Amino acid sequence: MQIIIIGSGVAGVSFAEKYRALSSDDEITLVTREHDGYYSRPLLSRGFSKTDIEQAIILKPFDKLRENNIDVLCGVEVTAINRVNKVIAISGSCQEKELSYDKLILAPGSSAFIPPPFKPYNKLFYCMNSLVDLKALRKFRQDFLTQSQRPEWAIIGGGLIGCELASDLATAGDKITLFHATPRLMERQLTSEDSALLLKVLQDSGVQVLLNQTVKNFVKEENKVCVRTELTKEFDGIIVTCGFKPRTELAELAGLDTGHGIKVNQYFQTSDESIYALGDVAELPNGKLYAFVLPIRHQALWLAEFLTGHKQNSWLPPVFTTKAKVHGFEALHPYNV
Ligand SMILES: Cc1cc2nc3c(=O)[nH]c(=O)nc-3n(C[C@H](O)[C@H](O)[C@H](O)COP(=O)(O)OP(=O)(O)OC[C@H]3O[C@@H](n4cnc5c(N)ncnc54)[C@H](O)[C@@H]3O)c2cc1C
Repeated sequence: MQIIIIGSGVAGVSFAEKYRALSSDDEITLVTREHDGYYSRPLLSRGFSKTDIEQAIILKPFDKLRENNIDVLCGVEVTAINRVNKVIAISGSCQEKELSYDKLILAPGSSAFIPPPFKPYNKLFYCMNSLVDLKALRKFRQDFLTQSQRPEWAIIGGGLIGCELASDLATAGDKITLFHATPRLMERQLTSEDSALLLKVLQDSGVQVLLNQTVKNFVKEENKVCVRTELTKEFDGIIVTCGFKPRTELAELAGLDTGHGIKVNQYFQTSDESIYALGDVAELPNGKLYAFVLPIRHQALWLAEFLTGHKQNSWLPPVFTTKAKVHGFEALHPYNV
């Protein structure tokens, strides 16, 4: 049997390794657009305070997976799924071709959510969703440091990632203004008391936090970029952190059922019985997406066991908590996940 996995995040890699551990016969091919290996996305939030981050973030080089008899095609983009012929189309490394599958595992993760009014200005801001994004931000910042300067940043969005990033850049010594649309930070995950505590921790670290701010758009002015709310403020760099969007595009093009994510049953099977979905992209029958490392790894191990006949009962989410990686912040109450 030929198993193809799309995506080399925690979902794709955990599934591949567990499946290989349980079955030595089936062929496993993991296809990914990444070049650098399997890396820790949560560690992106330590991308500025940790100097050796570009090496430390790599959890496993792709060659380690290959040594384990998992064929990894990296630097490759999956462009289409043909469900009738059971093939995927790939492009990259100067070649375009098709790969056949018996079972296809979709684990393409999520991209940064860009609010529609911001889309025309996408050349004017950065996101923080992948190692490629982190490297681009570090390079931009390094150009300032080389001239003994510090960039002044605007971060748009005071959710989990925006607060973590503001905290880490402030810890690294940069000047930050954090714009947030609602009256309190991380309002979806934290109690009011914990939001107030988080605000104080960020302010004490030098972050200027502006609440109730509707950012309208951005304007380029020579070497600066302006953020336009009621007022106009200029910055060296802007980072948009307004949440995430599951990558459902391939599934939609292939005619699979989608909602917020790719719809799956309690066995991670999509509306096509040969295709499964895991991780940030999988929408369970309760309408939930489990976009955290612990439940995603749990999903991936469970599916490998199920497909190799080691599990029969449907998947049940594990109990898990999360924690904002803001320097010096400990919530007093459990997070809402
Ligand atoms: C800055 C940041 C901090 C975070 N911190 C935490 C934390 O502290 N704790 C926690 O639990 N979670 C955290 N998360 C969330 C967590 O990282 C994700 O839930 C998890 O990484 C999702 O794993 P995944 O395997 O589903 O997708 P991903 O990790 O996104 O992997 C998907 C892979 O598929 C590849 N891909 C997608 N489409 C294609 C295609 N068409 N062709 C080829 N390749 C493709 C992508 O390049 C990517 O490598 C954080 C996320 C971010 C961005």
